[in-house]
Parts: sequence; C-alpha cells; structure tokens
Amino acid sequence: MNGRVTLLGAGPGNPELLTLIGKRRLNEADIVLYDRLIDPSLLAFTNNEAELIDVGKLPLHHKVKQSKINEMLVDYAKQGKKVVRLKAGDPYVFGRGGEEAQVLQQFGVNFEVIPGITSAIAGLAAAGIPITHRDYASSFHIITGHHKKNGQQLDWENIAHQEGTIVFLMGMAQLPKICQQLVEHGKSSQTPVAIIQWATQWRQKMVIGDLENINELVARHQLSSPALIVVGQVVKLSKQLNINKPLTGVHLLIPFSEHQRLFNSLEDLGATADFYQRALIEPLEVTLPSIDEYDAIIVDDVLAYHQFITLLIKNGIDVRQLIDKKIIASNHRVVQALQKTGILAIKGMPQDIPVKRTIEIGGSKPTYNIGTFLSLYEKKKRSLVLPFDLKEFSAVIFPSTASINDFLASLSEKQLSQVSMLKAFAMGKKVQQAAIQAGFGHVVICPPDVKKTVIQVKEEFMHD
Ligand code: SAH
Repeated sequence: MNGRVTLLGAGPGNPELLTLIGKRRLNEADIVLYDRLIDPSLLAFTNNEAELIDVGKLPLHHKVKQSKINEMLVDYAKQGKKVVRLKAGDPYVFGRGGEEAQVLQQFGVNFEVIPGITSAIAGLAAAGIPITHRDYASSFHIITGHHKKNGQQLDWENIAHQEGTIVFLMGMAQLPKICQQLVEHGKSSQTPVAIIQWATQWRQKMVIGDLENINELVARHQLSSPALIVVGQVVKLSKQLNINKPLTGVHLLIPFSEHQRLFNSLEDLGATADFYQRALIEPLEVTLPSIDEYDAIIVDDVLAYHQFITLLIKNGIDVRQLIDKKIIASNHRVVQALQKTGILAIKGMPQDIPVKRTIEIGGSKPTYNIGTFLSLYEKKKRSLVLPFDLKEFSAVIFPSTASINDFLASLSEKQLSQVSMLKAFAMGKKVQQAAIQAGFGHVVICPPDVKKTVIQVKEEFMHD
C-alpha cells in the first residue's frame, strides 16, 4: 500500500491564497475529495486524470456523511491512490480535520496535514480588521458557534470577560443567542461587531454594528453563512483599513494558464478571476519534409511554431536554415509572439508568394489550406464539466475563438442555457463575431492586447 492521504488546507476562499505545496499536491492527486466552501477554481490545478468528488456538506443537509468520507479516504489510500482531502481554511481549525486524521492513523494509512490560511484570521484582514492591535486587543479567541448535539456548552462567563478579539465560526444560526449571552455575561451592548460573509472572495460582504443592533443589520442586508462573527474593539479599524480596489467584487472567468498577465492584472485591480480549462494539446509524431523546397512558412499559431522548432531540433536542423524563408503569421497574436523570439513576420498571406512553395504549420486544420500543410498537434477535450454556476460571473474574457470553443465544449446543458445571460469580453473582431454567434447576451469588443483589455474591463465595471 503506497497510497497517501493529504489533509490539505485550501485557504479562506480566494484561490491565490492556497500554499505552494498545496498547489503541488493538487497536481499530483489521483483523487480529490473537496468541500462545499472550496472555490472550484482550485480544481483547475489538478491533472486531467484526477477524479474529483464533491463531498460538500450543505448546512443541515449532509451530502456525504462524515463516516462515509472517512471510509472513502481509507479505501482509496489502501488502493494505493494519492488522495487529497481539500478542506476550507486550515484543516485543523474546526471542520473535523482532527477526526479524519485520527481515523487515518487508526487504520494505518499514511497521511500528512498541510496547513492552510484560516478564515478565522485572514477573513478579518480581508475586511480591514487586524485581529490584534496594541491599542485594542492583546489576544484573540476563535470559538465555534456549532456544537455536537449533546456536546460541551460554552463558558460564556469566561468568553464575555476576555479583553481580546472574539471570532465565532459557524455561528450565524446562533447569532441572536451569541449576542444575548455576551451581553448577559457582562460585555457592553455597544461592543463593535462585524459580520464578514465569504471573506477574501469576490462575493465578500460585511456589515458592522454592535451587540445590540447587529441582528437587525444582518437581516436587513441579508447576510448568512458562511460568515465570521467578529466581536471586539478592533472592528472599529475596518473603517480606516478596509481597502477597496477598482474591481473589488467583480468576478471574471478566463482561460486557464494562458495569459498569466491578464489574470495578474485583473487580480491586482481587485477582481477575482476563476479559470476554465483549455483543451489539452497533444503533439503529433510527424516526419519533417525537406525544408529546402519551400520559400515561405505560414505559421497558423504560436503553439505550432514551438512544435515546429522542436521538430527541427529533433531532426538536427539549425533554425538558421530558415534564414531565406519568408515567415507569414496568420494573425496579430502570432506576429507578436514571433517578435519576442526575434522574428519579424509578415501578417497575412501576400499575393506574390507562389502557393506551391509554401508550407503551413498548425494544429488539426489549416487556416489557409494552400501548399503543404503540416499538422503538428491535436487538441483533446477535457472531460471535466465546469464546476461553476455561470450566473455568478460578471463576465468571461476570450482572447481567441479557440478559447470560446473550449469554453462551450465544457458546459453542461444547464450552463449552455445560461450563456445568453453572460457578458463576454472578446479580444479582437473575429473573437467578437464568434462570441455573438455562440449566443452571449452582451459582447464587448476589446483590442487584442492584454493591457488594453484590462483597461476596458476596468472602464466597463467602474461605470456600473
Ligand atoms: N477550517 C476552516 C473553518 C471550517 S468551519 C478555516 O480554517 O477557515 C466553517 C466555517 O468557517 C463557516 O461556517 C464560517 O464561519 C467560516 N468560514 C470559512 N470560510 C469562510 C469565508 N471565506 N468567509 C467567512 N467565513 C468563512
């Protein structure tokens, strides 16, 4: 038995708050069992073969019983699988990580625990509340608002007399009782309280009040679980320290791994960008024709160009043997990418090139289909249906028509019916046409340039 279970902390919600080792473990996993509070974007870090199981528990509605989860962890590990048990926040801060570890230990299963950033601390920071501060709180106390049916009762006398910050998790159903107990045991009813829902995520919401009025505020602003209840003087600092960026609250969907710059710029402006999977690229085994026969090389896309260079090297051909050939790029993106490697390509097919002496390099289908075509790779669809509710997105960004096809290919029937309600940013005219054709309700055309697209997204949402 070489299996292993990793109890992995996913962090408080925003996928970028996962640890580096956490990302690596997801990539290595054969099976991932994940919780309800996990941002589905994290699943994009798994490999294509991994089995993904939602064991998410809805409040009062256990999808998969804890005993069943324990059993699954043991069974999969015994089959020799690398199992990741992906848990919100830190695995050992509530959420039954300790119980799972005990079971694994009892059954002799090899396991490890990888910490995560807990919402109980980071969730406050995301709302501009330092959990300690020399002037306001010299300790903090993290307390569960949820108890085993006949389990322990809280020592309210003790809790109410703490000078430090008190954070309740899983407490929303008990909020009136929590406030009442604190006041009854001596806390001033004027003590500041913050409720932070979906902390660190695009849908983060917060209300601030005191022990007397917080219940009414929560009802008025319709806040519910999952949320943190923060009691203490540090709450007052939120007014001064809560940072809102231009795209705070904007939730975008973008293609995975491509355009890291697009992702970074949007996140830096405060947006949350989730990913959708692109098709997998499979290089094809090809025989290189004699290069000397051609005057021009038509490059359909950047990937084909890289595959082509690899093929040259494999055949012992120096790239300088292309020196007298015209390099023709099928679109501006190829032009830009080639420029970075020092090649100034011609955009589009010039009239004066004799067709029979061109070789076109691309994926499965040629763009021009003149002269010789060398198919260098194939695309393999990912099997995963996108684990998102598309209604939750402010927009999707498409850098290419291929990215639209990949997106549509991984939608369920229900998701397909939601496309007409989605806003799409299309980088370029062709992409715009494809997005309209795909049925997007509102298509915004952007220049085919990351920087300019980011500016456009910013303008679009800052006006809202
Ligand atoms: N292990 C987790 C906590 C699990 S208990 C951690 O370390 O964060 C589940 C409770 O955590 C929820 O009921 C809620 O009170 C809190 N919680 C988790 N993520 C949250 C988030 N992003 N925003 C607000 N509360 C959150």
